[in-house]
Amino acid sequence: VDSVPPPLLVAGASSLWTPDGSPSGLGLRDRPAIAIAGGRIAWLGPEGGLPPNLATDPRLVRLDAAGGTLVPGFVDAHTHAVFAGWRADEHRRRLEGASYASIAAEGGGILATVRATRAASREELAELLRSRLDTMLLNGVTTVEVKSGYGLDLGTELRQLEAIRDAALAHPVRVVATYLGAHALPAERAHDREGYLREVMDLAIPRVAQDRLATCCDVFCERGAFSVDESRRILSRARECGLLLKVHADELSASGGAELAAELRALSAEHLLDASDEGLEAMASAGVVAVILPATSLMLRARPVEMARLRRAGCRVAFATDFNPGSSPVDNLPLVAALACITNGATPEEALTGITLHAAAALGLEDEIGALMPGRCGDVVVLDAPDASHLAYRMGARLARHVVRAGQVVVRDFARVA
Ligand SMILES: [Zn+2]
Repeated sequence: VDSVPPPLLVAGASSLWTPDGSPSGLGLRDRPAIAIAGGRIAWLGPEGGLPPNLATDPRLVRLDAAGGTLVPGFVDAHTHAVFAGWRADEHRRRLEGASYASIAAEGGGILATVRATRAASREELAELLRSRLDTMLLNGVTTVEVKSGYGLDLGTELRQLEAIRDAALAHPVRVVATYLGAHALPAERAHDREGYLREVMDLAIPRVAQDRLATCCDVFCERGAFSVDESRRILSRARECGLLLKVHADELSASGGAELAAELRALSAEHLLDASDEGLEAMASAGVVAVILPATSLMLRARPVEMARLRRAGCRVAFATDFNPGSSPVDNLPLVAALACITNGATPEEALTGITLHAAAALGLEDEIGALMPGRCGDVVVLDAPDASHLAYRMGARLARHVVRAGQVVVRDFARVA
Protein backbone atom coordinates (compact mmCIF):
# COMPACT_ATOMS: atom_id res chain seq x y z
CA VAL A 1 0.00 0.00 0.00
CA ASP A 2 1.43 3.39 -1.01
CA SER A 3 1.80 5.63 2.01
CA VAL A 4 0.13 8.61 0.34
CA PRO A 5 -2.14 7.64 -2.57
CA PRO A 6 -3.91 10.43 -4.52
CA PRO A 7 -7.24 11.65 -3.10
CA LEU A 8 -10.10 9.25 -3.83
CA LEU A 9 -13.82 9.92 -4.22
CA VAL A 10 -16.07 6.89 -3.85
CA ALA A 11 -19.39 7.89 -5.39
CA GLY A 12 -22.41 6.44 -7.15
CA ALA A 13 -23.54 4.46 -4.09
CA SER A 14 -27.17 3.87 -3.17
CA SER A 15 -26.53 3.89 0.57
CA LEU A 16 -23.86 4.26 3.25
CA TRP A 17 -23.88 2.54 6.59
CA THR A 18 -21.55 3.08 9.50
CA PRO A 19 -21.71 2.54 13.24
CA ASP A 20 -22.12 5.88 15.01
CA GLY A 21 -22.53 4.63 18.58
CA SER A 22 -26.32 4.31 18.35
CA PRO A 23 -27.93 0.85 18.20
CA SER A 24 -29.00 1.18 14.58
CA GLY A 25 -25.90 2.97 13.32
CA LEU A 26 -26.02 5.65 10.67
CA GLY A 27 -27.61 4.89 7.32
CA LEU A 28 -27.37 7.56 4.62
CA ARG A 29 -29.52 7.12 1.54
CA ASP A 30 -29.21 10.39 -0.38
CA ARG A 31 -26.55 9.50 -3.02
CA PRO A 32 -23.87 9.14 -0.36
CA ALA A 33 -20.21 9.55 -1.20
CA ILE A 34 -16.95 9.49 0.67
CA ALA A 35 -13.66 11.26 0.02
CA ILE A 36 -10.30 10.01 1.27
CA ALA A 37 -7.14 12.12 1.24
CA GLY A 38 -3.73 11.31 2.67
CA GLY A 39 -5.04 7.85 3.53
CA ARG A 40 -7.75 9.25 5.84
CA ILE A 41 -11.43 9.97 5.45
CA ALA A 42 -11.64 13.66 4.59
CA TRP A 43 -15.37 13.99 4.05
CA LEU A 44 -18.63 12.06 3.72
CA GLY A 45 -22.05 13.25 2.66
CA PRO A 46 -24.35 13.59 -0.34
CA GLU A 47 -22.37 13.45 -3.56
CA GLY A 48 -23.12 17.05 -4.60
CA GLY A 49 -21.71 18.39 -1.35
CA LEU A 50 -18.05 17.57 -1.92
CA PRO A 51 -15.96 20.49 -0.56
CA PRO A 52 -14.45 22.66 -3.34
CA ASN A 53 -10.83 22.00 -2.33
CA LEU A 54 -11.39 18.29 -3.04
CA ALA A 55 -13.77 18.75 -5.98
CA THR A 56 -11.21 20.86 -7.85
CA ASP A 57 -8.13 18.77 -6.96
CA PRO A 58 -6.74 17.63 -10.35
CA ARG A 59 -5.35 14.44 -8.82
CA LEU A 60 -8.78 13.33 -7.53
CA VAL A 61 -9.51 9.71 -8.55
CA ARG A 62 -13.14 8.56 -8.74
CA LEU A 63 -14.29 5.05 -7.88
CA ASP A 64 -17.78 4.12 -9.07
CA ALA A 65 -19.75 2.32 -6.36
CA ALA A 66 -22.20 1.07 -9.03
CA GLY A 67 -25.29 1.54 -6.84
CA GLY A 68 -23.77 -0.46 -3.98
CA THR A 69 -23.46 0.22 -0.26
CA LEU A 70 -20.50 1.85 1.49
CA VAL A 71 -19.46 0.29 4.80
CA PRO A 72 -16.26 0.40 6.89
CA GLY A 73 -13.56 -2.14 6.06
CA PHE A 74 -14.23 -5.28 8.08
CA VAL A 75 -12.15 -6.18 11.15
CA ASP A 76 -11.62 -9.83 12.10
CA ALA A 77 -10.68 -9.48 15.77
CA HIS A 78 -9.86 -13.11 16.60
CA THR A 79 -8.01 -15.59 14.39
CA HIS A 80 -5.33 -18.25 14.73
CA ALA A 81 -4.46 -17.90 11.03
CA VAL A 82 -0.75 -18.77 11.21
CA PHE A 83 -0.74 -22.56 11.36
CA ALA A 84 0.36 -25.58 9.32
CA GLY A 85 -1.82 -28.62 8.63
CA TRP A 86 -5.57 -29.18 8.62
CA ARG A 87 -7.58 -31.47 10.93
CA ALA A 88 -10.42 -32.78 8.79
CA ASP A 89 -10.14 -36.17 10.49
CA GLU A 90 -11.04 -34.59 13.82
CA HIS A 91 -14.09 -32.96 12.30
CA ARG A 92 -15.17 -36.38 11.12
CA ARG A 93 -14.61 -37.74 14.66
CA ARG A 94 -16.75 -34.93 16.12
CA LEU A 95 -19.50 -35.63 13.59
CA GLU A 96 -19.43 -39.19 14.89
CA GLY A 97 -19.93 -37.86 18.41
CA ALA A 98 -16.45 -37.43 19.89
CA SER A 99 -16.05 -34.42 22.21
CA TYR A 100 -13.46 -31.63 22.05
CA ALA A 101 -12.01 -32.91 25.34
CA SER A 102 -11.78 -36.55 24.22
CA ILE A 103 -10.06 -35.56 20.95
CA ALA A 104 -7.56 -33.47 22.92
CA ALA A 105 -6.95 -36.40 25.29
CA GLU A 106 -6.03 -38.57 22.27
CA GLY A 107 -3.30 -36.09 21.25
CA GLY A 108 -5.50 -34.27 18.73
CA GLY A 109 -6.77 -30.74 19.01
CA ILE A 110 -4.37 -27.87 19.57
CA LEU A 111 -1.39 -30.19 20.14
CA ALA A 112 -1.85 -31.79 16.69
CA THR A 113 -1.47 -28.36 15.08
CA VAL A 114 1.50 -27.66 17.35
CA ARG A 115 3.32 -30.68 15.88
CA ALA A 116 2.62 -29.55 12.30
CA THR A 117 3.52 -25.91 13.01
CA ARG A 118 6.79 -26.78 14.73
CA ALA A 119 7.77 -28.70 11.58
CA ALA A 120 7.13 -25.66 9.32
CA SER A 121 9.73 -23.01 8.49
CA ARG A 122 9.20 -19.30 9.00
CA GLU A 123 8.93 -18.87 5.21
CA GLU A 124 6.32 -21.63 4.93
CA LEU A 125 4.24 -20.15 7.74
CA ALA A 126 4.45 -16.65 6.24
CA GLU A 127 3.38 -17.95 2.83
CA LEU A 128 0.42 -19.83 4.32
CA LEU A 129 -0.69 -16.70 6.18
CA ARG A 130 -0.21 -14.48 3.11
CA SER A 131 -2.54 -16.61 1.02
CA ARG A 132 -5.12 -16.55 3.84
CA LEU A 133 -4.90 -12.76 4.06
CA ASP A 134 -5.49 -12.64 0.28
CA THR A 135 -8.75 -14.55 0.71
CA MET A 136 -9.88 -12.42 3.63
CA LEU A 137 -9.22 -9.21 1.71
CA LEU A 138 -11.48 -10.38 -1.12
CA ASN A 139 -14.23 -10.67 1.48
CA GLY A 140 -13.73 -7.06 2.58
CA VAL A 141 -11.50 -7.67 5.62
CA THR A 142 -8.99 -4.83 5.95
CA THR A 143 -7.74 -5.60 9.49
CA VAL A 144 -7.16 -8.99 11.07
CA GLU A 145 -5.83 -10.10 14.41
CA VAL A 146 -3.57 -13.17 14.26
CA LYS A 147 -2.48 -15.11 17.34
CA SER A 148 0.54 -17.32 17.89
CA GLY A 149 -0.01 -20.31 20.16
CA TYR A 150 0.82 -23.28 17.94
CA GLY A 151 4.51 -23.24 18.89
CA LEU A 152 4.34 -23.59 22.66
CA ASP A 153 8.09 -23.38 22.87
CA LEU A 154 10.01 -20.14 22.77
CA GLY A 155 11.60 -20.72 19.36
CA THR A 156 8.43 -21.69 17.52
CA GLU A 157 6.29 -19.02 19.19
CA LEU A 158 8.78 -16.38 18.05
CA ARG A 159 8.91 -17.97 14.58
CA GLN A 160 5.12 -17.74 14.32
CA LEU A 161 5.20 -14.07 15.30
CA GLU A 162 8.03 -13.38 12.84
CA ALA A 163 6.02 -15.14 10.13
CA ILE A 164 3.07 -12.87 10.96
CA ARG A 165 5.33 -9.83 10.60
CA ASP A 166 6.77 -11.15 7.30
CA ALA A 167 3.32 -11.83 5.86
CA ALA A 168 1.96 -8.44 6.93
CA LEU A 169 4.86 -6.60 5.33
CA ALA A 170 3.70 -5.20 1.98
CA HIS A 171 0.27 -6.84 2.32
CA PRO A 172 -2.73 -4.49 2.16
CA VAL A 173 -4.45 -6.10 5.16
CA ARG A 174 -3.47 -4.49 8.47
CA VAL A 175 -2.39 -7.26 10.84
CA VAL A 176 -2.48 -7.08 14.65
CA ALA A 177 -0.31 -9.79 16.22
CA THR A 178 -1.15 -11.42 19.54
CA TYR A 179 1.16 -13.62 21.60
CA LEU A 180 -0.75 -16.70 22.87
CA GLY A 181 1.99 -18.82 24.41
CA ALA A 182 -0.52 -19.85 27.08
CA HIS A 183 -2.79 -21.59 24.58
CA ALA A 184 -2.13 -25.08 25.96
CA LEU A 185 0.51 -26.78 28.04
CA PRO A 186 2.91 -28.44 25.56
CA ALA A 187 3.05 -32.23 25.83
CA GLU A 188 6.76 -32.29 26.77
CA ARG A 189 6.05 -29.93 29.70
CA ALA A 190 3.18 -32.01 31.11
CA HIS A 191 5.15 -32.52 34.34
CA ASP A 192 6.73 -29.07 34.36
CA ARG A 193 3.79 -26.71 34.45
CA GLU A 194 5.55 -24.03 36.50
CA GLY A 195 8.59 -24.26 34.24
CA TYR A 196 6.46 -23.52 31.20
CA LEU A 197 4.73 -20.60 32.94
CA ARG A 198 8.16 -19.17 33.82
CA GLU A 199 9.25 -19.51 30.17
CA VAL A 200 6.14 -17.59 29.09
CA MET A 201 6.51 -14.87 31.74
CA ASP A 202 10.29 -14.48 32.05
CA LEU A 203 11.51 -15.18 28.50
CA ALA A 204 8.76 -14.95 25.92
CA ILE A 205 6.69 -11.95 27.04
CA PRO A 206 9.62 -9.53 27.58
CA ARG A 207 11.18 -10.61 24.26
CA VAL A 208 7.91 -10.29 22.33
CA ALA A 209 7.30 -6.83 23.80
CA GLN A 210 10.86 -5.59 23.30
CA ASP A 211 11.06 -6.77 19.68
CA ARG A 212 7.51 -5.48 19.04
CA LEU A 213 6.51 -8.87 17.68
CA ALA A 214 3.00 -8.51 19.09
CA THR A 215 0.80 -5.76 20.50
CA CYS A 216 -1.49 -8.04 22.52
CA CYS A 217 -1.14 -11.02 24.85
CA ASP A 218 -3.90 -13.61 25.15
CA VAL A 219 -4.40 -16.57 27.52
CA PHE A 220 -6.65 -19.63 27.21
CA CYS A 221 -8.28 -19.39 30.66
CA GLU A 222 -10.19 -22.64 30.95
CA ARG A 223 -10.35 -25.87 32.92
CA GLY A 224 -7.81 -28.11 31.17
CA ALA A 225 -5.84 -25.09 29.91
CA PHE A 226 -4.78 -22.34 32.36
CA SER A 227 -6.46 -21.44 35.65
CA VAL A 228 -7.67 -17.98 36.62
CA ASP A 229 -4.63 -17.55 38.91
CA GLU A 230 -2.18 -18.64 36.22
CA SER A 231 -3.91 -16.44 33.65
CA ARG A 232 -3.75 -13.47 36.03
CA ARG A 233 0.00 -13.97 36.54
CA ILE A 234 0.67 -14.18 32.80
CA LEU A 235 -1.51 -11.24 31.86
CA SER A 236 -0.15 -9.05 34.66
CA ARG A 237 3.37 -9.71 33.41
CA ALA A 238 2.25 -8.90 29.85
CA ARG A 239 0.77 -5.61 31.01
CA GLU A 240 3.99 -4.69 32.83
CA CYS A 241 5.78 -5.19 29.53
CA GLY A 242 3.35 -2.92 27.68
CA LEU A 243 1.20 -5.49 25.90
CA LEU A 244 -2.59 -5.14 25.64
CA LEU A 245 -4.64 -7.95 27.14
CA LYS A 246 -7.13 -10.47 25.75
CA VAL A 247 -8.65 -13.57 27.35
CA HIS A 248 -10.09 -16.79 25.86
CA ALA A 249 -12.79 -17.05 28.53
CA ASP A 250 -15.51 -19.47 29.57
CA GLU A 251 -15.61 -21.39 26.29
CA LEU A 252 -16.10 -24.89 27.61
CA SER A 253 -17.10 -24.16 31.21
CA ALA A 254 -17.76 -21.22 33.54
CA SER A 255 -14.18 -20.74 34.69
CA GLY A 256 -14.10 -17.11 35.81
CA GLY A 257 -12.47 -15.79 32.63
CA ALA A 258 -15.00 -13.01 32.07
CA GLU A 259 -14.53 -11.77 35.64
CA LEU A 260 -10.74 -11.88 35.21
CA ALA A 261 -10.93 -9.88 31.97
CA ALA A 262 -12.99 -7.25 33.80
CA GLU A 263 -10.63 -7.18 36.80
CA LEU A 264 -7.62 -6.61 34.52
CA ARG A 265 -9.52 -4.24 32.20
CA ALA A 266 -8.52 -6.35 29.22
CA LEU A 267 -9.40 -5.15 25.73
CA SER A 268 -11.62 -8.17 25.23
CA ALA A 269 -12.83 -11.52 26.47
CA GLU A 270 -13.58 -14.07 23.80
CA HIS A 271 -15.92 -17.10 23.32
CA LEU A 272 -17.94 -16.60 26.59
CA LEU A 273 -20.31 -19.52 25.92
CA ASP A 274 -20.58 -20.24 29.64
CA ALA A 275 -19.87 -16.78 31.05
CA SER A 276 -22.00 -15.78 34.04
CA ASP A 277 -24.33 -12.77 33.96
CA GLU A 278 -22.18 -11.21 36.68
CA GLY A 279 -19.09 -11.74 34.55
CA LEU A 280 -20.72 -10.13 31.52
CA GLU A 281 -21.92 -7.17 33.61
CA ALA A 282 -18.45 -6.72 35.07
CA MET A 283 -17.03 -6.75 31.55
CA ALA A 284 -19.53 -4.11 30.43
CA SER A 285 -18.66 -1.75 33.27
CA ALA A 286 -14.92 -2.27 32.73
CA GLY A 287 -15.26 -1.56 29.00
CA VAL A 288 -14.16 -5.07 27.98
CA VAL A 289 -15.45 -6.02 24.52
CA ALA A 290 -17.23 -9.39 24.23
CA VAL A 291 -15.80 -11.17 21.17
CA ILE A 292 -18.31 -13.82 20.09
CA LEU A 293 -17.35 -16.60 17.68
CA PRO A 294 -20.51 -17.96 16.01
CA ALA A 295 -18.74 -20.29 13.55
CA THR A 296 -16.98 -22.04 16.43
CA SER A 297 -20.14 -22.72 18.44
CA LEU A 298 -21.79 -23.96 15.25
CA MET A 299 -18.87 -26.28 14.40
CA LEU A 300 -18.80 -27.66 17.94
CA ARG A 301 -22.61 -27.80 18.11
CA ALA A 302 -22.41 -25.79 21.32
CA ARG A 303 -25.19 -23.54 22.55
CA PRO A 304 -24.43 -20.05 21.19
CA VAL A 305 -24.30 -17.01 23.46
CA GLU A 306 -27.67 -15.24 23.27
CA MET A 307 -27.32 -11.69 22.04
CA ALA A 308 -30.19 -10.82 24.40
CA ARG A 309 -27.97 -11.70 27.41
CA LEU A 310 -25.10 -9.59 26.10
CA ARG A 311 -27.50 -6.70 25.46
CA ARG A 312 -28.96 -6.97 28.96
CA ALA A 313 -25.47 -6.93 30.46
CA GLY A 314 -24.61 -3.85 28.38
CA CYS A 315 -21.61 -5.39 26.62
CA ARG A 316 -20.12 -4.09 23.41
CA VAL A 317 -20.12 -7.12 21.14
CA ALA A 318 -17.75 -8.04 18.32
CA PHE A 319 -18.07 -11.07 16.05
CA ALA A 320 -15.00 -12.86 14.68
CA THR A 321 -14.13 -16.00 12.72
CA ASP A 322 -11.76 -17.67 15.23
CA PHE A 323 -10.20 -19.05 12.01
CA ASN A 324 -8.18 -22.13 13.05
CA PRO A 325 -7.76 -25.69 11.78
CA GLY A 326 -9.79 -27.28 14.57
CA SER A 327 -12.93 -25.61 15.87
CA SER A 328 -13.41 -23.03 13.09
CA PRO A 329 -11.86 -23.64 9.67
CA VAL A 330 -13.92 -20.61 8.57
CA ASP A 331 -12.11 -17.58 7.14
CA ASN A 332 -15.23 -15.79 5.90
CA LEU A 333 -16.07 -12.89 8.24
CA PRO A 334 -19.23 -11.77 6.37
CA LEU A 335 -20.53 -15.35 6.74
CA VAL A 336 -19.87 -15.08 10.47
CA ALA A 337 -21.85 -11.82 10.60
CA ALA A 338 -24.79 -13.66 9.05
CA LEU A 339 -24.37 -16.53 11.52
CA ALA A 340 -24.40 -13.99 14.37
CA CYS A 341 -27.94 -13.09 13.34
CA ILE A 342 -29.16 -16.66 12.80
CA THR A 343 -27.47 -18.42 15.72
CA ASN A 344 -26.99 -15.65 18.34
CA GLY A 345 -29.96 -13.45 17.60
CA ALA A 346 -28.07 -10.31 16.60
CA THR A 347 -29.79 -7.72 14.42
CA PRO A 348 -28.15 -7.00 11.05
CA GLU A 349 -26.97 -3.66 12.50
CA GLU A 350 -25.43 -5.37 15.55
CA ALA A 351 -23.74 -7.91 13.31
CA LEU A 352 -22.23 -5.17 11.17
CA THR A 353 -21.13 -3.12 14.18
CA GLY A 354 -19.65 -6.36 15.51
CA ILE A 355 -17.35 -6.78 12.52
CA THR A 356 -16.43 -3.10 12.32
CA LEU A 357 -16.42 -0.67 15.25
CA HIS A 358 -16.64 -3.11 18.15
CA ALA A 359 -14.09 -5.39 16.52
CA ALA A 360 -11.79 -2.38 16.23
CA ALA A 361 -12.34 -1.69 19.94
CA ALA A 362 -11.35 -5.29 20.71
CA LEU A 363 -7.97 -4.47 19.15
CA GLY A 364 -7.58 -1.07 20.79
CA LEU A 365 -8.10 0.63 17.40
CA GLU A 366 -11.57 2.14 17.75
CA ASP A 367 -10.31 5.68 17.16
CA GLU A 368 -8.51 4.59 14.02
CA ILE A 369 -10.75 2.15 12.11
CA GLY A 370 -14.19 0.54 12.21
CA ALA A 371 -16.33 3.57 11.32
CA LEU A 372 -16.73 5.91 8.37
CA MET A 373 -16.00 9.25 9.98
CA PRO A 374 -13.72 12.14 9.04
CA GLY A 375 -10.24 11.56 10.43
CA ARG A 376 -10.45 7.76 10.51
CA CYS A 377 -8.30 5.58 8.31
CA GLY A 378 -9.72 5.33 4.79
CA ASP A 379 -10.68 1.64 4.89
CA VAL A 380 -13.93 1.28 2.92
CA VAL A 381 -15.83 -1.62 1.39
CA VAL A 382 -18.33 -1.15 -1.43
CA LEU A 383 -20.90 -3.92 -1.11
CA ASP A 384 -22.63 -5.23 -4.20
CA ALA A 385 -25.99 -4.77 -2.48
CA PRO A 386 -28.59 -1.98 -2.17
CA ASP A 387 -28.22 -1.84 1.61
CA ALA A 388 -26.08 -3.33 4.37
CA SER A 389 -28.72 -5.79 5.59
CA HIS A 390 -27.72 -8.05 2.68
CA LEU A 391 -24.62 -9.01 4.64
CA ALA A 392 -26.81 -10.65 7.25
CA TYR A 393 -29.02 -12.17 4.61
CA ARG A 394 -26.98 -13.56 1.68
CA MET A 395 -25.06 -15.99 3.82
CA GLY A 396 -21.54 -16.68 2.58
CA ALA A 397 -21.92 -14.60 -0.62
CA ARG A 398 -18.99 -12.52 -1.84
CA LEU A 399 -20.43 -9.02 -1.61
CA ALA A 400 -17.25 -6.94 -1.47
CA ARG A 401 -17.18 -5.42 -4.98
CA HIS A 402 -14.47 -2.87 -4.18
CA VAL A 403 -12.13 -2.69 -1.20
CA VAL A 404 -10.25 0.48 -0.32
CA ARG A 405 -7.41 0.30 2.20
CA ALA A 406 -6.00 3.58 3.55
CA GLY A 407 -7.36 5.38 0.50
CA GLN A 408 -5.93 2.96 -2.06
CA VAL A 409 -8.18 0.73 -4.18
CA VAL A 410 -6.91 -2.82 -3.53
CA VAL A 411 -9.91 -4.82 -4.81
CA ARG A 412 -11.85 -3.57 -7.84
CA ASP A 413 -14.86 -5.41 -9.27
CA PHE A 414 -14.13 -8.41 -7.03
CA ALA A 415 -10.52 -8.76 -8.20
CA ARG A 416 -7.29 -7.85 -6.50
CA VAL A 417 -5.57 -4.86 -8.10
CA ALA A 418 -2.91 -4.01 -5.50
ZN1 LIG B 1 -9.45 -18.69 19.61
